[in-house]
Amino acid sequence: MITRSLLLFVAFGLMTHASAQTAAPAAKKATEPTSETAAPKADEDATIITPFRPAQLPVAKETHTFQLAKLNKLQATETTRELQRLYSAYANQNIVDGSPAGFSKALGFIATITYVVHQDLGDNRYFVKASWPAVGSIKDGLPAATDAYCILLLDHPVAVGSSGKANGMHVGMVSIQFTAKFPPLDGKRLTMRRDAFLECTPLEDSPAALQKFATEILQGSSYSVTTLEKVTCKTCGGLGFTREAQKGKLEDKRTPCTECESGKSTITVETKFIP
Ligand SMILES: [Zn+2]
Repeated sequence: MITRSLLLFVAFGLMTHASAQTAAPAAKKATEPTSETAAPKADEDATIITPFRPAQLPVAKETHTFQLAKLNKLQATETTRELQRLYSAYANQNIVDGSPAGFSKALGFIATITYVVHQDLGDNRYFVKASWPAVGSIKDGLPAATDAYCILLLDHPVAVGSSGKANGMHVGMVSIQFTAKFPPLDGKRLTMRRDAFLECTPLEDSPAALQKFATEILQGSSYSVTTLEKVTCKTCGGLGFTREAQKGKLEDKRTPCTECESGKSTITVETKFIP
């Protein structure tokens, strides 16, 4: 937790550092009865990155429990296969860090990002063109992107023009003000709002890691995972339509259900693991 949290603070620290520098003269000016003026010339090339919209994780609509003691018992929903499925989701929602437990909950969706570096913004921050798949639900998940400009904070320096693949934790959207140094935007001073990602290492998704996970639960560790689940629609009872009796007619009037798709709706469920 400590190392990763620090890194995140550093990430935003780095992002806000430049803006704090330029904000200082502006604050001084506010006390003087002067009109609005352009930023000082010295800062014309400075890269200013400020948080714009924080990453959001879906709020669980339902809470389930997964009881390890019931594993593979007759009529129990707790099967080995279900445990593996939930653990895979869990592994992708937690990142390896320097905390005593060895990992902590990710603060945003984790996506596999393929990228091409367009500009080095300093301090391992890069302006990249990237693609990533959709993570989570359509409504409150991270939408997929193809060849989208975004900001990436990597664990190591990379060269401009190089391409790569990384596990990126979405940390929300940032506002970036910078002078582009690549075609076709070369030399242009731009202000953009872009998604920002932090390179991270998700938990290992292996039989050994799953075994360790189960052992820790049995020893009293409290873990939970948030997943999207297809459930029977409560409004129409899984029919996909609602019925209404019509006077003088044998057949009921059928109205398509607005709450679901063919009787199934997708909801966010938090599953708590218990011994
Ligand atoms: Zn329905």
